[in-house]
Amino acid sequence: MEKREQLYEGKAKKVYATDDPELLIVSYKDDATAFNGKKKGTISGKGIINNEMSNRLMQRLEKAGIPTDFVQELSERETLVKRVSIVPLEVIVRNISTGSFSKRYGFPEGIVFEEPTVEFSYKNDELNDPLICDSHILAMKLTTKEELETIRSYALKVNELLQAFWKSCGVILVDFKLEFGRLPDGTIILADEISPDTCRLWDAETKKKLDKDRFRQDLGGVEEAYAEIMGRLKAQDEEASTEA
Ligand code: C5P
Repeated sequence: MEKREQLYEGKAKKVYATDDPELLIVSYKDDATAFNGKKKGTISGKGIINNEMSNRLMQRLEKAGIPTDFVQELSERETLVKRVSIVPLEVIVRNISTGSFSKRYGFPEGIVFEEPTVEFSYKNDELNDPLICDSHILAMKLTTKEELETIRSYALKVNELLQAFWKSCGVILVDFKLEFGRLPDGTIILADEISPDTCRLWDAETKKKLDKDRFRQDLGGVEEAYAEIMGRLKAQDEEASTEA
């Protein structure tokens, strides 16, 4: 696989073309941003952790029947992925109230929902990724009705699978963001990353935050939290492989 020109540089990743038009290389950076780029910083070693964590979780989901863009881990920071056209939606699933949910509605934090919620934001930095409802998604033809239902049902299935996995690591999956893409034949697959940058993960006993909220809220111990959550995941994966 030959790495070609850089196609795109995002807040946390760079994307490169390859000699295969259907494949791209994603390279994870240590750069961290929050509040749509208003807060900037570096989380040392984050790119390595997010690459490995996202790849492990994507492979776990793929095995459970969720199609993903994962192809192969190439190095500490680089992964080969399927080329997709990204659906311009952030798909957010919540199990517990916090973050923008509590802020928007003046709703107390930490309330466990009876059913998970699914919401969509329109991916547009200039507009600050505004919340968008189904009928507006369809009016702007961002997806078809069928695609939207596929995305919603994949998101809820991912929640079930990841909630159970993180529980086995002694971690509560509070909420997370997914992105989906279309393959050239129109198939919807899970893309982007699943990491402490995109999930809220709390220690089940102490409720300590083990995710990017430590950076967003200046809580300190950011690098340590990323290392801790990665360690929990690896220990659980290794335990599962010795049992198998
Ligand atoms: O800020 P908010 O409460 O809406 O975030 C919900 C979840 O989505 C959090 O886990 C957060 O990390 C993730 N998120 C993200 N990228 C964004 C917005 C939210 O990964 N642009």
